[in-house]
This record gives sequence, structure tokens and C-alpha cells, in this order.
Amino acid sequence: MKQTVQMDKIQANMRKGVLTLEGFLGTDTRKLVDILVDDDAEVRRLGVTHAEIARRMTELKEAGEKGLGEFINAGKNIEVKVDSVRGRLPCPFGDPGIFGKVNTTVRDKLTGKEITFTDLHIHMIKTHGFYEGKGSRFRLEPTQLVELLQVKPQS
Ligand SMILES: [Zn+2]
Repeated sequence: MKQTVQMDKIQANMRKGVLTLEGFLGTDTRKLVDILVDDDAEVRRLGVTHAEIARRMTELKEAGEKGLGEFINAGKNIEVKVDSVRGRLPCPFGDPGIFGKVNTTVRDKLTGKEITFTDLHIHMIKTHGFYEGKGSRFRLEPTQLVELLQVKPQS
């Protein structure tokens, strides 16, 4: 797929120091369109959708909020902690949303593995199918998300 001029502008916003200090691309040198296409293919292979992943992330965040900053159980072998820090982040795709810096950490109690994501991640996955570039500190690997968060198809 060919990258549009609009996507070039979005990709420019994702660079280090434009909207955020670290940016959204890490060391990824691919075009944004290719990052999106590759992750979309991976999510399809996993048998789920971006919307289903985002819905599960939201569900776990909401469950975790009841822990008031401490880990609490959120289903089979999973515990969740939700922390908020000051500040807000805009979406690099340029839509009007501004997102609070809420970190949700999901831990697999059997393996000890953890994934931390923000409200902006949930939005970017749901609305744009974007998981950040490879090498970004905040990159979420679709396979790891689906496994650790136990994402299941809705029907
Ligand atoms: Zn957006």
C-alpha cells in the first residue's frame, strides 16, 4: 500500500520530540502505512480484531481502577494495577482527543510477565490499529497483548 501525504504528516508528528519526548516510532524506519499493514496482518493471524483487543484493554483498566493504585485480581491468573500521573497526551493521528496519562499494568500471575499501556494506546489501537513502531519503549506487540490479556473473539 502507498503512503498518503496525510500519513507523511502524521508520521512527522510521531518523531521524537514533536508531541512527546520519545515519539512513537522507536528505531522503526518503515513507513507508517507499512507498520499499520504489518500489525493488521498479525492481528488477523491471531484471530481477533483491533476493536476486540481495545475492548479487553478497557475492561481490564476498569477492573484495575478498583484497586486504587495497587494490583488487584481481574480474572483467571491476571492481576491489574492502574496509576495516573499528571499530564495529557494528544493523539498523533490528529483527531481531537486528548488522553490522560493513565497507566494500566496487567500481570500474568503464573509467569510474572507484565504489560503496561496507556489510555492513548487503547485509543490508537481501537481507532487506528497502531501499536507504535518497533524499538519504541511503548510498543505493544499484538501477540503478547492477546496472550497476556487473554483477548478472545467476541463471537
Ligand atoms: Zn486518534
